[in-house]
Amino acid sequence: MTHAITIASYGGPEVLTWQSVDVPEPGPGEVVLKHTAVGLNFIDVYERTGLYPNKLPFGLGREAAGIVEALGPGVTDLAVGDRVAYTLGSAGAYSERRVAPAERLVKLPDGIRDTVAAAIMLKGLTAQALLRRTYKVERGDTVLIHAAAGGVGLILTQWAKHLGARVVAVVGSAEKATLVREHGADLVVLVDDDWVRAARDFTRGQGVEVVYDSVGQSTFMRSLDCLRPLGMMVTFGNASGPVAPFAPLELAKRGSLFVTRPTLFHYISTRPALTRAAEELFAVVQEGAVRVHIGQTYALQDAAQAHRDLEARKTVGSTVLLV
Ligand code: NDP
Repeated sequence: MTHAITIASYGGPEVLTWQSVDVPEPGPGEVVLKHTAVGLNFIDVYERTGLYPNKLPFGLGREAAGIVEALGPGVTDLAVGDRVAYTLGSAGAYSERRVAPAERLVKLPDGIRDTVAAAIMLKGLTAQALLRRTYKVERGDTVLIHAAAGGVGLILTQWAKHLGARVVAVVGSAEKATLVREHGADLVVLVDDDWVRAARDFTRGQGVEVVYDSVGQSTFMRSLDCLRPLGMMVTFGNASGPVAPFAPLELAKRGSLFVTRPTLFHYISTRPALTRAAEELFAVVQEGAVRVHIGQTYALQDAAQAHRDLEARKTVGSTVLLV
């Protein structure tokens, strides 16, 4: 037996329930993991509310670090005691122990602590996909990043700078503005100010090469207004609600823009794609190009409070639930 946070119905943070659950024997290709740190993600909110539906009841959480405790048949690349981390397409990380597929686990190098790994497996691999594959950021590009002080946002900001881009960061408060400036943003604009005008002025009226928009509903159309002709709109989240349907002609009017709606798990669906991306991520963290800012931690049992704070826009950087 172990403990886990599960939900039996969609709703607010109060549906999160801490309870005893069974840990099954690991099947072929599986291992038992003892978690040490679990990542909090906005996707956990979408799953809790039912925006991303799942089969009820289920255990929340898609990102964690821990230690291999037992091996199922046929697992040869891992040993009991290995430190590993993962992000999985299926939930269940809010737990003390779980069974996980060995081929989705990544061994942690000595320089990456468990809490850091739990803070970056989903958020940092997302940043890797968005900056290196969705739109390949190049030296001299100007990129606009929404929610830049958040978990994904603060990693995106630093990594885009490392690639030689100029970063226009949009944030929700003066404190968050200070934080993203400290992490290298070139221009910081509050979300309630005229960030379209600011981005256009910053690029001498040209517009930015790419917008990374995780806020969704409340920012989508204005984000299009920030782009230069043939620019790339990357809409990758719904923090303010899902983007409403729009007419493709709006893209032509603004300069034959591109729009994409990526999901990380399509980018890391194979073992080679996962390990390549993780190597790149660990390298930028270990060389100090990306400093992982864990703005707050909570005990795993207190995940409901972490959800309240995330949705109230009170968190900064990554949030880790300690086991
Ligand atoms: P964050 O730490 O970025 O938290 C969300 C932030 O969004 C808030 O801090 C807030 O920043 C901003 N925000 C704007 N409007 C709202 C609103 N109405 N309610 C709440 N927050 C709002 O979360 P994560 O780093 O976990 O995730 C960031 C985004 O990236 C999410 O939308 C998530 O879904 C997306 N994502 C997408 C992935 C993909 O594969 N497509 C993978 C991983 C994450 P501020 O106060 O500065 O405005």
